[in-house]
Amino acid sequence: MLRTGAEYLAALRDGRRIYYGGERVADVTVHPAFRNTARSFARIYDRKREAEHLGAMSFAEGGEQFTSWFLLPRTRKDLEQRAECHRRVAEWSYGLLGRSPDHVPAFIGGMAMAPELFDANRKGFGRNLIDYFDYLKSRDLFACYLVLTPQGSRDPKMYRDTGTASPALAVVSEDSDGIVVSGLKLLGTSAVFSDEAWIGSLIPLGPDQIQEAVTFAIPINHPGVEIWVRESFELRASNKIDHFFSSQFDESDGVMVFDNVRVPWSRVFCHRDIPLMRDMYFKTPAHVMGNHQSNWRFAEKLKLMVGIAHRACDMAGVINIPAIQQTLGRLAAAEASLLGLMAAQIDQHQSLASGHVHVNRRFLYAALQWCASNYAQVAEEVRSLMGAGPFLLPADTSVFDNPQTRRTFEKYWGLPTASADERYKFIKMAWDLLGSEFAGRHTQYEKFYGGPPHIMDLYSFFNCPWNERRAAIDQIIKDMASADDLTAPQNQAAS
Ligand SMILES: Cc1cc2nc3c(=O)[nH]c(=O)nc-3n(C[C@H](O)[C@H](O)[C@H](O)COP(=O)(O)OP(=O)(O)OC[C@H]3O[C@@H](n4cnc5c(N)ncnc54)[C@H](O)[C@@H]3O)c2cc1C
Repeated sequence: MLRTGAEYLAALRDGRRIYYGGERVADVTVHPAFRNTARSFARIYDRKREAEHLGAMSFAEGGEQFTSWFLLPRTRKDLEQRAECHRRVAEWSYGLLGRSPDHVPAFIGGMAMAPELFDANRKGFGRNLIDYFDYLKSRDLFACYLVLTPQGSRDPKMYRDTGTASPALAVVSEDSDGIVVSGLKLLGTSAVFSDEAWIGSLIPLGPDQIQEAVTFAIPINHPGVEIWVRESFELRASNKIDHFFSSQFDESDGVMVFDNVRVPWSRVFCHRDIPLMRDMYFKTPAHVMGNHQSNWRFAEKLKLMVGIAHRACDMAGVINIPAIQQTLGRLAAAEASLLGLMAAQIDQHQSLASGHVHVNRRFLYAALQWCASNYAQVAEEVRSLMGAGPFLLPADTSVFDNPQTRRTFEKYWGLPTASADERYKFIKMAWDLLGSEFAGRHTQYEKFYGGPPHIMDLYSFFNCPWNERRAAIDQIIKDMASADDLTAPQNQAAS
């Protein structure tokens, strides 16, 4: 099934409990903090059905059509199709929707390639996982995930022990029907726009956190579940010219609150198994397939930023200065390097005994590390190229409503490379992406979405073939003359 945008929007009106401060949001599809972004997500559902996109965005199985982000890859061609699907979704949202509908299925699909791991915890959990993946796939559902315990309530051996009761989500009881959970989970990016939530933990749990060692899925409107969202940038955006991106691509972040929530066993995938809580991401292709989507999304955002850099220099009349061209060249080289790493992930894909394939782990983690470590610097560099440009403009679009201010603005603000009107639109758009509070959230997102920055380096540490690297060093040392050789007569003679 390929849902329409209208069907997707209708499903959001399901009585979900969302709190904006003290206000209970009745309907995200009409609320001014969410309605435009809800439509941006709906557009993804409509566009993938259009004739020009249908080939890349869907596949046939058993006489039915499904979205490509649910394709479990068995060949290089499958990986290419998935990559193109991620790329198009990212292009349609300028890489600004990090948790677009293709993100979480890539994780769960990665797990579905190795379901036996779950049965080792409890027989039937592997079946639950496959059934859940098929459930999402057959209904074309949108899932978010919250895989972090709250700050201040983590493994006391590694983190500060606050000595207070932990607010972390934990199992409070269980019976033959399922489990009951209470507590907080973070961070639900896109949760208010999703149909389903996957709840687990990507960070290691300590032995005394066994009640928190649970992974399950629930519908967003499940009884007892609330989402507490951060301040909305869309709400503050006055119009699509002054705030082009924040007015329609504010995916929202929220904490999920669980108050005695019942989860049936059929939706539980891990219970009281601390190693499996993480192994399901790292001993299956889940983490690499999920972050492959993140890489494509980042690449589209980077292309946009590189384009802004060039246009900004052109407008400021500095494009012919060699030092500026050098800066632009560095940005272009960074973009090309990332695209090269993306191609290598597919070119050197890896296979599983099950017959499935996944993207190359080392190239994936190299790309992830590069993106997380360099976004802030790239954004800063492009913003610098804009100089004082953003502060030379009138406050807002009302300048065009008054004939007198409009005439003056058009007379004095025009440039050889852009009319006053074009200059206004470009700079407002670029500042929304690179200098606004919305931009600040993106800088934080790019640094943390895949985990804290030190982990980004460690993924590459854990996946490097160190023995191979060290073998050459050991050989050189072995081939070197021994200490005895150094004092042999011919050496003495030579000296
Ligand atoms: C905008 C945004 C969206 C997000 N979306 C999602 C989502 O959709 N789903 C989800 O589950 N999570 C999401 N996350 C959460 C993300 O996974 C976490 O931010 C990340 O794992 C870091 O955890 P933390 O924020 O609790 O920071 P903490 O772990 O509390 O760290 C605080 C600071 O200490 C540093 N630090 C911590 N431990 C160490 C160490 N051992 N060595 C050195 N430095 C250390 C960190 O780098 C950081 O600077 C999102 C985060 C952001 C910012």
